[in-house]
Amino acid sequence: MGSNNHNKDHHNHIQGNPSCSSYCNKNHTNACIEDIIKNNTEWAENIHKHDPDFFQRLSQNQTPRFLWIGCSDSRVPAETLTGLEPGELFVHRNVANLVVHTDLNCLSVVQYAVEVLKVEHIIVCGHYNCGGIVAAVENKELGLIDNWLLNIRDLLFKHAGLLGHLSKEKRMNALCEINVIEQVYNLGHSTIMQSAWKSGQNLSIHGWVYGLDDGKVNDLEISARNQSTLEQAYRRAIAKLEVHADKED
Ligand SMILES: [Zn+2]
Repeated sequence: MGSNNHNKDHHNHIQGNPSCSSYCNKNHTNACIEDIIKNNTEWAENIHKHDPDFFQRLSQNQTPRFLWIGCSDSRVPAETLTGLEPGELFVHRNVANLVVHTDLNCLSVVQYAVEVLKVEHIIVCGHYNCGGIVAAVENKELGLIDNWLLNIRDLLFKHAGLLGHLSKEKRMNALCEINVIEQVYNLGHSTIMQSAWKSGQNLSIHGWVYGLDDGKVNDLEISARNQSTLEQAYRRAIAKLEVHADKED
């Protein structure tokens, strides 16, 4: 799976890889479908070599401690950037990492993670330069997804006072942060979180923003472990952004 293999295959490709199937357009410059199947075989064999019972053990059950709610963006690989192994991270991803109260898909993932798997932490992780956020701000016409991105346009208007003080680049970054803060808040107000917290379940939620240009997460310090810490953390996080916006003036 290493990048060396990858580069080697890539090189073969340019010279005409005989294993490249008719599914491939032979002019591509990155991995093709055969490459990733081969990668998978090597990955599975490598793990089996070092830990022969790994897959057998994992196939019995999963006990992840973490649920990840992140963006679908291909540059934000949840397991890779957290260094977690198969079985350690339950994952839901959608465009712009939204937690929408009518989204049965996201809510079902949260419900299963909280009530059945009993995860201890839920991480909402956005990222800077999120295409979904840029598209929402620029009001591009992209089709069906425009309806989904209206959730972000709502945030743009809700926080217009704060965002209006910032330069374009800082405004985008601040909106990526606001989006995570608001999604953490939405999550905390879901019936699933509310009843888990009422019953005293050990469950925290966290909000991070990942930097595509340095690979590091920025912890927005909005972690909450119950209703009252959620309200405090939300107010504190928004106030912190307001202070930064005022300094811009
Ligand atoms: Zn994104």
